[in-house]
Amino acid sequence: MIERYDWLLFDADDTLFHFDGTLGLTALFNSFQAVFTADDFSQFQALNKPLWDQYAQGLVTADEIQIRRFVPLAERFGVPPEQLNEQFIRAMAELSEPLPGAVELVHALHTRVQLGIITNGFTELQDRRMRRVGFDRHFELLVISEQVGAAKPHIDIFEHAFERMQRPPRERILMVGDNLSTDVQGGRNAGIDTCWLNHYGKQAPVDLQPTFEVDNLHQLHQLLLGTRHG
Ligand SMILES: [Mg+2]
Repeated sequence: MIERYDWLLFDADDTLFHFDGTLGLTALFNSFQAVFTADDFSQFQALNKPLWDQYAQGLVTADEIQIRRFVPLAERFGVPPEQLNEQFIRAMAELSEPLPGAVELVHALHTRVQLGIITNGFTELQDRRMRRVGFDRHFELLVISEQVGAAKPHIDIFEHAFERMQRPPRERILMVGDNLSTDVQGGRNAGIDTCWLNHYGKQAPVDLQPTFEVDNLHQLHQLLLGTRHG
């Protein structure tokens, strides 16, 4: 099926990379000789998650997320929120690993199609992590919402990517991602095919059906190349 496409665009977090915030937060707490508890995680997520949802709706900026989510902890540890955010992102860049099947998939694909990433994540994390796992050699394009000033699912971030891809025909582009409201909705807004990486066996609403759906990257490998090791 890979012959259908010239470009594959991937989401980054929880599509190519495992993103477990507890790892980064544990490292952060340890650096202040504090123990990171389940309550700490709930409190952080109660602040962090709505900010990300608002970011996808264009209601807050990337800078605002990075600072506002660390305000209570900054008071607790007596340091600026910017410092905590920077430490957290640095830890995540070191600790965030490719998902099972991601490295094999990228290696199998990069000689067949052009590869890109469109992420709503932060610049510093993406750049470091891409280099650390060697993906920077295999991806022609890395589009980061923080730099573009628009986030998925807004069409502007896709238009920005298409411009940098020198405007291939839209039917020759596939967007792959784990998030229905940003990746699948975004791909649909941009008029390209979508593949939903449905990790948790959820049901897509009737008005938000992806072109394809897979449970994991091994299945995606199978779908695109017909074999896991092709
Ligand atoms: Mg994701």
